[in-house]
Amino acid sequence: MFDVQKVRADFPILSRKVNGKPLVYLDNGASAQKPQVVIDAINTAYAEEYANVHRGLHTLSTIATEKYESVRGKIARFINAGSEDNIILNSGTTEGINMVSYAWAAPRMQAGDEIVLSIMEHHANIVPWHFLRERLGVVIKWVDVDANGDLDPDAVIAAIGPKTKLVAVTQMSNVLGTVIDVKTICAGAHEKGVPVLVDGSQSAVHMPIDVCDIGADFFAITGHKLYGPSGSGAIYVSPDRMAEMRPFMGGGDMIREVSRDSVIYNDAPMKFEAGTPGIVQTIGLGVALDYMMNIGMDAIAEHEKALCSYARGKLDGLNWLNVQGQSATKGAIFSLTIDGAAHAHDISTVLDKKGVAVRAGTHCAMPLMDHMGVGATCRASFGMYNTVEEVDVLVDALELCHELFG
Ligand code: PLP
Repeated sequence: MFDVQKVRADFPILSRKVNGKPLVYLDNGASAQKPQVVIDAINTAYAEEYANVHRGLHTLSTIATEKYESVRGKIARFINAGSEDNIILNSGTTEGINMVSYAWAAPRMQAGDEIVLSIMEHHANIVPWHFLRERLGVVIKWVDVDANGDLDPDAVIAAIGPKTKLVAVTQMSNVLGTVIDVKTICAGAHEKGVPVLVDGSQSAVHMPIDVCDIGADFFAITGHKLYGPSGSGAIYVSPDRMAEMRPFMGGGDMIREVSRDSVIYNDAPMKFEAGTPGIVQTIGLGVALDYMMNIGMDAIAEHEKALCSYARGKLDGLNWLNVQGQSATKGAIFSLTIDGAAHAHDISTVLDKKGVAVRAGTHCAMPLMDHMGVGATCRASFGMYNTVEEVDVLVDALELCHELFG
């Protein structure tokens, strides 16, 4: 049975005050807070068990290596990746998608080849493809969302032509909260022989993920949104795509032998992990995933569903407030604007005075904001520790904004 108060007690920061008010943390879409078990694990790793991994034979290096390497299996279980050999550890989604761009896409693409993207991608799933556009003459094909913020999977599949080499889509919009039917997209793309990269940065924290069932070729996650440390993350790569990738970062750990005029690479996945990794961050991520799996992703999803439906009812009831994106699949992300002159930054400042932390701006999704014709929004994004009472605090603070600026 999910007990939100018990969960809250695990997150020390949630008991602090901001500007004299109890903190209402609604910036989870940017980064989530950390439970005490993760903070303790980081502390233990540095205070008692720190050494570099993979290289030493001494006790501390062995402990650090075992703890670090055990996270690969935890991630594989968390997203049902089949085998831990399909998991490349990294610093987060940005690194993961850039790796796919350099290690898989660049060597197999040429001028005129296409990549299909949705208009609601985060810049992390846009800019690496712009690099290929600039350097190789690759063409980016955009698929728009409708007025509700829905992305029609059939429109994505229809955009795939004979020159398309990759489809890259998010599973959940970081602005609109729309959850995309990536399984249908993967099935349709595969029928046309085209691999799919799924950006799971926002989705993986809110719902159970099964990359095998989705059928993704690449699935990126980022640790700091999963209640883990920043600088941790991973990307799932299917065995077929893994075999096609060329290492793009060279250095220690990714090699087996180096001589004056030759190099023999390590086996995958380590072949794609050059240099000293984020050892402690990754260990912390493993503890965060254990924490979530112990609670249960179904239980977390159920709690958040009830919370979001309450929030949606309340926010939709404010006729001077615009909630961007009204998809039936909308999850725990609400991008808001107020009729009249109030800028998102002003709203966010007033909310902060009430202890409510939200994000204001264009959320690293400028093509989407442009498509929606919105300059900036205030984004309230929920996590497993948020409560209906906090939704009420948000609504009261928004009403104050309306009085001040509306
Ligand atoms: N993709 C989406 C949908 C995101 O929301 C984010 C972060 O906000 C990213 C990618 C980038 O993640 P990171 O900055 O952790 O690499």
